[in-house]
Amino acid sequence: MQSRWNDTEAANFTSDPVALRAYTSRLLGQEPALVQHGGGNTSVKVDKQNLFGETESILFVKGSGWDLATIQPQGFAPVNMETLLRMARLEHLSDSDMVRAQRAAMTNPSAPTPSVEAILHAIIPFQFVDHTHSDAVVTLTNTPTGEEDARALFGDKVLILPYVMPGFVLARQVYTHTRDLNWRQYEAVVLLNHGIFTFHDQARTAYENMIRLVSKAEEFLRVRGVMVNRTGAAPKAVKPVQLAEMRRRLSEAMGAPVLLRLDMGPEALGFADWQDVATISARGTVTPDHVIHIKPKPLIIASDFAAALENFTQDYRAYFEANATDGMTELDPCPRWAVWPGHGCLSIARSAKNLRIVEDISSHTRRCMQWGEALGGWKPVAESELFAVEYWELEQAKLKVMGGTAPVLQGKVALVTGAASGIGKAIAFELKRQGACVAGLDLNPGVVEILAGDGGIGVVCDVTSEASVNAALEKVVAHFGGVDILVSNAGTFPPGKTIEEMSEHDWTQILNVNLSGHWRVMKAAIPLLKLGFEPTIVVIGSKNVAAPGPGASAYSTAKAGLTQLARVAALELAPFGVRVNTLHPDAVFDTGIWSEEVIAGRAKHYGLSVEHYKKKNLLKTEVTSKNVADLVAAMVGPGFAKTTGAQIPIDGGNDRVI
Ligand code: ZN
Repeated sequence: MQSRWNDTEAANFTSDPVALRAYTSRLLGQEPALVQHGGGNTSVKVDKQNLFGETESILFVKGSGWDLATIQPQGFAPVNMETLLRMARLEHLSDSDMVRAQRAAMTNPSAPTPSVEAILHAIIPFQFVDHTHSDAVVTLTNTPTGEEDARALFGDKVLILPYVMPGFVLARQVYTHTRDLNWRQYEAVVLLNHGIFTFHDQARTAYENMIRLVSKAEEFLRVRGVMVNRTGAAPKAVKPVQLAEMRRRLSEAMGAPVLLRLDMGPEALGFADWQDVATISARGTVTPDHVIHIKPKPLIIASDFAAALENFTQDYRAYFEANATDGMTELDPCPRWAVWPGHGCLSIARSAKNLRIVEDISSHTRRCMQWGEALGGWKPVAESELFAVEYWELEQAKLKVMGGTAPVLQGKVALVTGAASGIGKAIAFELKRQGACVAGLDLNPGVVEILAGDGGIGVVCDVTSEASVNAALEKVVAHFGGVDILVSNAGTFPPGKTIEEMSEHDWTQILNVNLSGHWRVMKAAIPLLKLGFEPTIVVIGSKNVAAPGPGASAYSTAKAGLTQLARVAALELAPFGVRVNTLHPDAVFDTGIWSEEVIAGRAKHYGLSVEHYKKKNLLKTEVTSKNVADLVAAMVGPGFAKTTGAQIPIDGGNDRVI
């Protein structure tokens, strides 16, 4: 591992110790092998004058909710050092009381909650303190000979302490171990099975000591020849319905819809096909705080998925019962990652953000397990210690605060066709905003960019080709695990031509996209929707169905046929709980089909101003693509849970429709 320190960049921060602290924290955070999603923490001690002109020593420590990779000075909580040091001298303190007292000792009440390791940072008598859960350092200690190996490798300048629970117990352990020691003889503390602290009065030295010691651990693994990641043969094919079926069962275990992502890459597959993977991976997580994201062990998928999951959930309940004390709330028994021999590994989560966290942590875990096993046997902390962190009073307290705050569509997967522009794009964004993961299909390759990022995927798809539709759905299901919502929107809006003028080619083409295209997507999605969570289809029809106009024969005919298709789908799919409703928009001008020029031309044709033309409806209101998206979001949500087969206009009121 190389130091990322850059003199020119660092020069921007040297006048402010907290800014410099944020800078080297980001350097640590950029290294995934050091910290994972909120893991690790850093601090700086600064003397500040208070309102009364007195000098106070303040610890600026990483606040919760901030990630080291992106932290800014305001991400550090300023806590009075004297209070922290007095707390270290207490014999007992619950972690909830500790957090409360730390918050009360902040000099800025609107700063984030200080890290639970704040007291520990205060005890270490150096200005800059850096703490990571380095893969290499932790793995080295997660073996039967880990403690000896660490001592031999790091030497006398590194203090090595046995594992204890993070929080006050750990702060207290460090305090009692070190109160009679001369800290100046040390440059680091290694906490077995947990991580490493480095410290110095210079930010650069504290940071570079971390890099140097972690590199030493990496070199140790390399010399022992264990840093070779397993690679697998070609994965076995997976049918989308197989994944959707698994997702359905996992959602039942979670009690809410989950997302599922299959990693069939050589590293994941190699791990899945590793002999004894079931036994080794059941021994525990790399560092105990990972248990919050990935539970104590993965699900091992056997030929009978339902039975394997049942075993997992029963084991989880037994683990809870064996370790729980009175008043604890049992968490869901749903696994967060799964090992599927012959195929690869699966990540499971309630939200797109958590899915990425699970993917990252589980992929590091797979690597560390292989290294640990090669070093003499993977041996992380005991199950009871994992339980202590998973059911930590601070974690249990979060459950009470978080109850019921999930966005309404969280965990659901929505497929939106024609998502690169206009109404489809507005729908995709709105469903995403309400918590759904959105797969946008479009002929326009721009869709990939438009929907890139957490919670979205854009797939180029031609709805006139069955093969293209099937390939797109396969991609979507490998990415999110299934489909709950289909918004069938893709269509073309051809220029006006009378029946007499229209060519057979144009007629066929318009029907192929605006009618058969919807049928193709529906046909391919139905087997997945049947396995979905509160599944539903929304079809984007048109005012033209009830109130056709001259010059749009093919378009109106296709939309009328599409409406009939949706009605039949409502009848056919009701026994499977799939709701199908149709929405008929009119005069949605902010969609790109309507250039200012075209609108002006149409307005002139009716002898109206553009302003009046846009509001040419009973309510005298303009209908925007956002309005349509809001209605779609409502229709896929709980408010419409008892409605199927409906046709709803969104046109500002039209006397021909009414
Ligand atoms: Zn830690």
